[in-house]
Amino acid sequence: QFKRIPLPKKSKDELYLMGEGFNNMIELLEVNYEKQGQFISNASHELKTPLTVIESYASLLKRRGKDQPELFDESVQAIHSEAIRMKDLTEQLLLLARNEDKWLLDVKELHLNQIVDESIRSFQKAYNRDIEYKQEAEIIIKGDLQKFKQLFFIFMDNARKYSEEIITVRITRNDQGAIVEIVDRGIGIPAADLEKVFDRFYRVDKARSRKTGGFGLGLSLAKEIADVLGVTITLDSIEGLGTTVKINFPAPSSH
Ligand code: ADP
Repeated sequence: QFKRIPLPKKSKDELYLMGEGFNNMIELLEVNYEKQGQFISNASHELKTPLTVIESYASLLKRRGKDQPELFDESVQAIHSEAIRMKDLTEQLLLLARNEDKWLLDVKELHLNQIVDESIRSFQKAYNRDIEYKQEAEIIIKGDLQKFKQLFFIFMDNARKYSEEIITVRITRNDQGAIVEIVDRGIGIPAADLEKVFDRFYRVDKARSRKTGGFGLGLSLAKEIADVLGVTITLDSIEGLGTTVKINFPAPSSH
């Protein structure tokens, strides 16, 4: 708890306003402080789980590996997959940390259609999933190419993880600007969780997410990237039917 300046009666004089400003800053600091503490404790917890598995299998091999070679396959398998999980988490944490460098954006004029096309191609190459691509408008945007690709990747990756059928990506124009939609026909998100899925480390179903390999960091990173790029995200989802992510671009120019 940080100390606040005790403020007597409300007044308009400068000293009072300064005191009030100071107390507001303290308020913000406290919120940030608490969030950071929460983040570190979540991250440590997520890293600790795979480390514990690795440690126990390693010690099992150390104690009994020579006498019981049949332990070898299972142990190596577990150590390997937990090490991959730790590597994935570390990579995501680094991405989150790097996104703080907002001023390092490489802003250029970009063809949205082309970026989406490239993102889909590399995604399909990596995951061999069917993606239907509908372009209903040609859009030019301004922004950082790599950050846009990162953003599309996060949503396509979620569509892949939480659905089995074909994924649709669509570009349309509306009064406010342009929209990229990523539509899946998967398990959907319960209404009560919709707000919370953007929080760091939040997962609807922890057990299931662990199987699909998620940490609950993707959407929080997406939200931060979107803020940096000046686009907004809307999430529509119906449990059991699927999810539509809309990335809303402000006033694009067309050609
Ligand atoms: P994760 O790595 O767990 O996927 P995210 O931050 O990307 O983390 O998503 C948070 C949670 O939101 C997920 O664990 C999942 O429960 C839910 N979610 C995100 N996208 C989808 C989707 N397209 N369909 C169903 N559930 C989703």
